[in-house]
Amino acid sequence: MMPTDQLPSHVDVAIVGAGFSGIGMAIRLRQAGRDDFVVLERSAEVGGTWEANTYPGCQCDVPSNLYSFSFAPNPDWSHTFAEQPEIWDYLRRVTDEFGVRPHLRLGCELSDAHWDEEAGLWRIETSRGSLTARVLVVAVGGLCEPSIPALPGIESFKGAAFHTARWDHSHELRGRRVAVVGTGASAIQVVPRIQPEVGQLSVFQRTPAWIMPHPGRPTRPLERRLFRRFPALQRLVRGAVYWGRELYVVPFRMRRVRRIPERMARRHLEEQVADPKLRERLTPDFEIGCKRILLSDEYYPALQQPNVELVTEAVAEVRPHAVVTADGREHEVDTIVWGTGFRTADLPVAERLRGRGGLLLEEIWRRRGMQGLRGTTIAGFPNLFMLVGPNTGLGHNSIVFMIESQLAYVIEALRTMDARAAGVLDTRQEAQDAFNDAVQAEMEGTVWTEGGCASWYIDEHGCNRTLWPHTSWSFRQATRRFDTGEHELSRRPRRPRREAEPTAAPAVD
Ligand SMILES: Cc1cc2nc3c(=O)[nH]c(=O)nc-3n(C[C@H](O)[C@H](O)[C@H](O)COP(=O)(O)OP(=O)(O)OC[C@H]3O[C@@H](n4cnc5c(N)ncnc54)[C@H](O)[C@@H]3O)c2cc1C
Repeated sequence: MMPTDQLPSHVDVAIVGAGFSGIGMAIRLRQAGRDDFVVLERSAEVGGTWEANTYPGCQCDVPSNLYSFSFAPNPDWSHTFAEQPEIWDYLRRVTDEFGVRPHLRLGCELSDAHWDEEAGLWRIETSRGSLTARVLVVAVGGLCEPSIPALPGIESFKGAAFHTARWDHSHELRGRRVAVVGTGASAIQVVPRIQPEVGQLSVFQRTPAWIMPHPGRPTRPLERRLFRRFPALQRLVRGAVYWGRELYVVPFRMRRVRRIPERMARRHLEEQVADPKLRERLTPDFEIGCKRILLSDEYYPALQQPNVELVTEAVAEVRPHAVVTADGREHEVDTIVWGTGFRTADLPVAERLRGRGGLLLEEIWRRRGMQGLRGTTIAGFPNLFMLVGPNTGLGHNSIVFMIESQLAYVIEALRTMDARAAGVLDTRQEAQDAFNDAVQAEMEGTVWTEGGCASWYIDEHGCNRTLWPHTSWSFRQATRRFDTGEHELSRRPRRPRREAEPTAAPAVD
């Protein structure tokens, strides 16, 4: 018997990725009465970021009431900033409750997709076979390809070494000499969790981060009951949290206002670290917000435990039993945890997407930087929508809000195509260029261009193609309407027959 989740030969919409974006897209398609789609996911389960990152202490840094779908509130978060297992559970539950599960093709990695001009569709190769799709939705996220520095000798290491996003739970840490390389968002969550059990912990810091007091707390049974009983109350709280977070964008855009959070972070450091020398090593030399602002009450205390050493010399080399720093010092370890972030400015999926004329997205982006129109469409890549595309990241609010804005925009685009009997939609290059000029102009004077740091937000051309430079509300406005003037809509080309179907698919021209 054929497995029920075999790949169809053709679908109307193929979604790649089953994180917040891909699952959200699938739900919105179903709600719009569009059932002819599949979700191709390389992992064995849905969840994306929240399936992959299982390191101890993994937690969202945006309140859970907001870091969840507006159409699927969860009254039962056990903490105002839920940890990974609960967020992963939530995404699996939503997948089932909204009927997305039958559309999933798990363990199915997209290896190549190219636009077939003549047929007017995408030809897709995956680890489980080929298919074609009229529309391709790329929902692979911005933080899903771990980045590990290409250090000399890295292959020679004899102990266990893994990235925070690929945590090896079979590796026992108790009593070990562990190196955590990197002090970004994941590392500062891991360090306090593993410090009590490891023998020796060396934390290798290249650049200290600004860290604010953590505002999270366990939720109370009463508030959970109230949210369950009165969903409107939870919506009200979500709204209040949302608008409160929107204000956080002001310091990113106004230097004078930046002094306020910077003072709060300095006070937090002073309260938690008594030793002025250590404090100095933990004080960033760039303005707050230039890199992601982190939240923790536990990181600084953990660093000051007797089994922890903060190393601020750069990591230069790896030897079979040690990490070696630029001063020539050998730090003997038997485990290395890479807390070194993700490939962000050169999205690997771009190496697998070929648009009009066989052009590889990676080549275009390498030359011009990661660019699209309204973070969602890309000139020369017809019928392709990218979720969490260029300039859609946020430093201050929930990315789920951005994703939901994009979902509505894609549905509107599909409706427009139907209404005009258009089989092919391509973004006009001049519209995309004008949009990007406007985004980069908005970037001027923000902390990301003037804050004095080298962050993963900035690409090799010195441009911030990662973040949206304004409020998330302004992105919602920018995607509220699908402006046909920005796109070329052309009629449906001749469509190949579905192999499994006896009847002919309609050919319009
Ligand atoms: C540890 C961590 C904590 C975070 N915390 C927050 C937070 O608090 N607030 C916030 O706003 N953001 C946070 N983020 C950012 C987070 O990535 C986004 O919020 C969100 O999860 C992105 O969802 P997504 O569906 O777009 O991408 P992802 O969740 O990354 O999902 C992409 C999916 O695509 C799949 N995929 C990739 N390539 C292929 C391929 N070739 N073929 C098939 N499948 C493929 C991947 O396996 C993955 O399942 C965090 C990120 C990390 C890593």
